Amino acid sequence: MIICISLHIYSVLFGRRIVDIKFIFDQILASNNKNHIKGFDCSFINSELIKETRKGFHCSWFFKCKMCNIETIIQSDIDDKNKIPINKAVANASIAVGIGYSQVNEFSASIRSHNFFL
Ligand SMILES: [Zn+2]
Repeated sequence: MIICISLHIYSVLFGRRIVDIKFIFDQILASNNKNHIKGFDCSFINSELIKETRKGFHCSWFFKCKMCNIETIIQSDIDDKNKIPINKAVANASIAVGIGYSQVNEFSASIRSHNFFL
């Protein structure tokens, strides 16, 4: 099976996402232990979103600390060979329920998520 996935980069957030929420929280907590410069007494909470990259349903958010400029990337889904990546999971699910890319895109639009293939 060949999956064509679009890549989009945004500086403003809109719409909804499918995320592994525990993985996101774990990344945020881990980023607080990162090497923010001690003298600024800053953490992830001082970071601002620079851009979002979307590949199908997978998202990456790039943050930069406003105090010490350290950059943090938060991923929407874990990259683990023991788990099916979100885009393959969506493709597999669409096959399982007998729908194609048009229906996946319509479904995504209906839940105010972004398009999978467009
Ligand atoms: Zn910082």
